[in-house]
Amino acid sequence: MKTFAINTLGCKVNQYESQQIRELLEQQGLRRAQSPQEPDLVVIHTCCVTHTASAKSRQCIRKVLRQNPDSVVLVSGCLPTAQTGELSGFDENVHLVSNRSDLAATLRHWAESETATPVCQSAQSCPNITIKAKNGHKIKYKNEFRSESRLPTLTSFNEQTRAFLKVQDGCDGYCSYCIVPKTRPDVHSKRIETALIEAQALVNSGHKEIVVTGVFLGAYGRESVRRNSWPDRRNDNLADLLDKMTQIPNLARIRLSSLEPADVTERLLDTFCKHRNIMPHLHLPLQSGSDAMLRRMRRQYRVGEFRKKIESIKTRLHKPAITTDIIAGFPGETDADFEQTLDLAKSVGFAKMHVFTFSARRGTPAAKMQATFEKTVATRRSRILRDLDGELGRQFRQQFIGETAEVLIENDNGSDIAREAMTTGRSERYFKVYMRKAEQKALENNDIVKVKLTENYRDGLVGIPLQRHGPVGFEDVSRAPLRGCSGHSNGVK
Ligand code: SF4
Repeated sequence: MKTFAINTLGCKVNQYESQQIRELLEQQGLRRAQSPQEPDLVVIHTCCVTHTASAKSRQCIRKVLRQNPDSVVLVSGCLPTAQTGELSGFDENVHLVSNRSDLAATLRHWAESETATPVCQSAQSCPNITIKAKNGHKIKYKNEFRSESRLPTLTSFNEQTRAFLKVQDGCDGYCSYCIVPKTRPDVHSKRIETALIEAQALVNSGHKEIVVTGVFLGAYGRESVRRNSWPDRRNDNLADLLDKMTQIPNLARIRLSSLEPADVTERLLDTFCKHRNIMPHLHLPLQSGSDAMLRRMRRQYRVGEFRKKIESIKTRLHKPAITTDIIAGFPGETDADFEQTLDLAKSVGFAKMHVFTFSARRGTPAAKMQATFEKTVATRRSRILRDLDGELGRQFRQQFIGETAEVLIENDNGSDIAREAMTTGRSERYFKVYMRKAEQKALENNDIVKVKLTENYRDGLVGIPLQRHGPVGFEDVSRAPLRGCSGHSNGVK
């Protein structure tokens, strides 16, 4: 039986797609290679969202080629689709999938190639797919399967407690620092019925939490992410999907990936309030607290709108976790712009800030913008933001000390924490909860346990388990006090 390995770099969308690749290969009769066996096929699903991500992807390809000289190496994901010439040195040794819609057909052809005759072996008449075979020869295939050869929907999400469910792909937003519109220009969404069937399958395979994800999740059901192209500039499709997803039996938790302020409509907040299995956590990438910078970044919102939306979220939801991404040192960022970012971060009280130091991404307009300061300035600003993140995170968590939380256990057995005899998991509001093993019976991955929160510790809180929920524990969880909404017992204010 042929074997495979998959290396994944980058975001939740890439991680989801790697699971689709795994399902496809398993459906084709392949199995995952066991170390130290050299796989017949290695897929590297790359990322190129930043200069560093691109470098890491190339590093990964080099390492795989070095360690697996006899494997067929297929490079998919964002880097080959960006076509910025960053992979030119690898042409001879790897198969680059530069058109995403060829990926499924390519994998199927390769999987069948030992038993089936290639559709075509002439380079001239079959220019679409070329794959290196195990014996080192190149096989050329005619890609006749473009429309029907898609990556499959998922029935499980391996090696991870929380499952990601991609419901939207593509962006035509063209933020000035972002390469994604070049790598994923086709804006499209999964039909509600398909998403629900897939969510049900993931629950059936044991997942209690699903993270609904997309490249621009707020554009779910739309053909463009640009709001000025939408009727009334609003979109209720995501709320419709969530309303239905919440009804899936035994789906204990739904979490959303990134949204922009305008995506958080009153209707979406109503949905959060109505359904206790939607987690009170919103990730809203701010990028900068200065309108001048947001304009240069070509973001679709301004600071006033961001502030107003945060107020409205805090009015509707009970102590929500609001997390964000911030870019430090964007070209042209002045001390005053940076101060505005700090002020806004403090006034929002972000539960977590992911801070990125600006680095020019080749192929984007921002790469041509002139920096008006030394690199050390950007580094210093990042450090200040990271220090602030530590402080704001502690303050956010402090308000829950003495309260109870429900924690989804997600142990990383190889980590320092495991060696320190701690069990870890994520609360409803996504902060980490650490439990000392001496204080509890063995908790296993994917258990949901109610804990009393006692003190700040590292990047989370310490929790003492109060009761253990086994596989049927969700009934207990569903009778717990409402987690999400302030005010009335039905959760709707
Ligand atoms: S909205 Fe902007 S940052 Fe997000 S994927 Fe689209 S272009 Fe990139």
